[in-house]
Amino acid sequence: MSAPTAPSLSPPPGRSLVLMYHGIHESRADRGRFDPRYSLKPEQFATQMRHLSELGVAGWLPVAGEALVAPEGPAGRHMVLITFDEGDVSNIEQALPILQESGLAAVFFITRNFVGQRGMISRAGVRELADAGMVIGSHGLSHHFLNNLSPAALRIELASSRDFLQQITGRRVTLLSLPGGRGGRRELEAAHDAGYRSVFGSRPGNNQATPAGGLIDRVVISRQIDPVAFQQLVRWQGPAVWRQCARYRLLGWPRRLLGDRSYDQLRQVLVRG
Ligand SMILES: [Zn+2]
Repeated sequence: MSAPTAPSLSPPPGRSLVLMYHGIHESRADRGRFDPRYSLKPEQFATQMRHLSELGVAGWLPVAGEALVAPEGPAGRHMVLITFDEGDVSNIEQALPILQESGLAAVFFITRNFVGQRGMISRAGVRELADAGMVIGSHGLSHHFLNNLSPAALRIELASSRDFLQQITGRRVTLLSLPGGRGGRRELEAAHDAGYRSVFGSRPGNNQATPAGGLIDRVVISRQIDPVAFQQLVRWQGPAVWRQCARYRLLGWPRRLLGDRSYDQLRQVLVRG
């Protein structure tokens, strides 16, 4: 574990940033499910974790498991929470050792039906993450977008993924991230009814004004983000912030016009093209 050094930048106080990662892959040849936008190179991720470690802002984890209801950092400090969605096998093979090397912890949101699939984490891997001090959250049962489900199907998605992960880890699962970031008031209420205390979306933001029990914003960290842009996102200042917010708003238009299914097909073409 590297010794903490003096912060090189001073972030504004009172903001809670939640970073959203997926897989860590050098290239398509690596184990796991490579994504040209969401897969970070191992060295890129390691550099980011070293930066967070030096900054001394990451480490929301003491409260993440139980008390992360209102997304403010302790005592008005600027805090950063590291999260992963899906449950790619690289979460344990690449991300875990890098996090440990930097003295950091993260929340891993696992999709129940992905566990054990080709390129995805195993049951033993989920347990190993939890035993290593990481927090395990749910990313749904099937990765169906929750806003498209009937009330009964929604309850099953929330409860069965929670029970499965609790059984594997022996720990309570109280955090949920919405597949595709899709969901609103109905999904939040259903999640709280199912025992989730915090629900994370995919809208970029710094959570400064998020009400207790509201949807927690997250900042997506993509392969295209260079070290300068990463530092801007972590401080929530500078052009990288505006670029991310503008991109989210722009992508919202075709999603609303086309619907979820057509939008995702379009996104696949645009991202891979
Ligand atoms: Zn997802």
